[in-house]
Amino acid sequence: MSELIDDVHAGFEQRFGGKADGVWSAPGRVNLIGEHTDYNDGFVLPFAINRRTFAALSLRTDRHVRVASSFAEEVVEIDLDELSPETVQGWAAYPLGVAWALGQDGADLAAVPGFDLFLDSNVPVGAGLSSSAAIECAVAVALNDVWRLELDRRALVGVGHRAENDFVGAPTGILDQSASLLGRTDSAIFLDCRSFDTEVIALGLDAAGLEVLVIDTGVTHEHANGGYAERRASCEAGAKTLGVGSLRELTVDDLSRARETLDGETFRRVRHVVTENARVLDTVRLLREQGPTAIGDLLDASHRSLRDDFEVSVPELDLAVETAQNYGAIGARMTGGGFGGSAIALVPGHLVSQVQVALDGAFAEHGYAHPDMFTVVADDGAHRDA
Ligand code: ADP
Ligand code: MG
Repeated sequence: MSELIDDVHAGFEQRFGGKADGVWSAPGRVNLIGEHTDYNDGFVLPFAINRRTFAALSLRTDRHVRVASSFAEEVVEIDLDELSPETVQGWAAYPLGVAWALGQDGADLAAVPGFDLFLDSNVPVGAGLSSSAAIECAVAVALNDVWRLELDRRALVGVGHRAENDFVGAPTGILDQSASLLGRTDSAIFLDCRSFDTEVIALGLDAAGLEVLVIDTGVTHEHANGGYAERRASCEAGAKTLGVGSLRELTVDDLSRARETLDGETFRRVRHVVTENARVLDTVRLLREQGPTAIGDLLDASHRSLRDDFEVSVPELDLAVETAQNYGAIGARMTGGGFGGSAIALVPGHLVSQVQVALDGAFAEHGYAHPDMFTVVADDGAHRDA
């Protein structure tokens, strides 16, 4: 990662002249299990990955802000006093949204100075690994430091979440920001999205000789946002009809009543969320009692539920999962919101190449674009690098 720190320094100097005051970074994330449960007040189990977004930042003496990224040619400029969801579009809404959200969430920004910010990243964009949270969290920890706001990590989760929902305008839960801010080496973050309680759960992947292979299908669907909103609406409707505040309050025992009360589609949406919450709890228990070799079946079951009940998978993700399972993965599932993006497979280290070769072949045979594949390890959350 030290080259990326050099790169982000160099990029800053090239765009703005002068040396940055410091560099902060935050990781993307993989959700091990617990999909579409976060906005239902349920359980998730993500981990931060060793792909990060770096933010080089210097304070200014005026109230002006300039942001730039290795991803774009332009330098976006604005005054702190002009920041509002209406004034910024495109990628710059992520970093600037964080500055705005800090003000909304109680920090007094009336007298803080502006800043110059340059971003560089090796988190793949739009692959379901949350490059968006990586930016938000890198910028949030940077501004929290330089503006001496002293907000704790949990508050910064809220800031990133507000930036993405209210400034960028992308409806998402708190999973991504929680993983990016709270991640720990070789560990997952067990998050209760109702109480916001978090617990660090040892993964022990290395000790078990297991690798997490990410298979980025490269597929993005235009209707992803619409599909996500529709699923959220189904969950809310299901909860309302069943007389609960959120689907979190239901258990597997409630499903027979749900089947009698709900229409077929809403029932299947509800069944996914209820069983997925149970799978997260089972995964946490098995990780503690037996280690990661025991969780494969739960990953497989999660994928089936997302494919058949929640209907957010796509043929490319199904192919990635089935192929990985057939060629040596002990478990595999789509990860992230669905409608494209990535799958993950838990693979014994000595079988990783075999699985990759099989995936190459299967995608070619189906006429699908070659998937990008790489292994990830669970890494530390957002921090200052230099
Ligand atoms: P994901 O979070 O799954 O990668 P999103 O659609 O939520 O996908 O976020 C991707 C968006 O975040 C990009 O379209 C871009 O606007 C912004 N983004 C991500 N990384 C960077 C970066 N390094 N520099 C500038 N913008 C970025
Ligand atoms: Mg995102």
